[in-house]
Amino acid sequence: MIMYTLGEEDNAPSPEEALAEYIRRIRTGLALSQKALAEKSGLHLQSLGKIERGKTTRLNQKSRRALAAALEVREEYLEKLSGGVTTQPVQTIKICPNCWIPGSEPEAMWSHPRSKFCFACGTGLRSRCAGCGEAMASFRFRFCPHCGRPYKD
Ligand SMILES: [Zn+2]
Ligand SMILES: [Zn+2]
Repeated sequence: MIMYTLGEEDNAPSPEEALAEYIRRIRTGLALSQKALAEKSGLHLQSLGKIERGKTTRLNQKSRRALAAALEVREEYLEKLSGGVTTQPVQTIKICPNCWIPGSEPEAMWSHPRSKFCFACGTGLRSRCAGCGEAMASFRFRFCPHCGRPYKD
């Protein structure tokens, strides 16, 4: 079981509190100006202003982490208040130009970030059009929408 000190729990957002109010409360509690917090967190003053005015209600992971550190609060609080959306890096679709059947879903193993070669035939995997270098738009496409070259050799 993880124990948190009382001091940290004191900085928890109240149930009715919105992200904007919460950040302003913690910031003023730390006697930081908006500018000082912007500098401390590395966020743009303008971005911070938008957050505090409630114009920005969702924070990406990087901003959350930076703000949580600067405000000395747990990142989960900001995560909860910003809709709990965790930004996952978009996985790049990769295909084996040899084994892939156009129109079918590529093997999950091909798209694994560390896969470079096809597990079945050893062919170099491809995430971009061999013709123009644009990222593969969809595995439902047989041809590159940018240059018309077939994705499969
Ligand atoms: Zn293959
Ligand atoms: Zn192309």
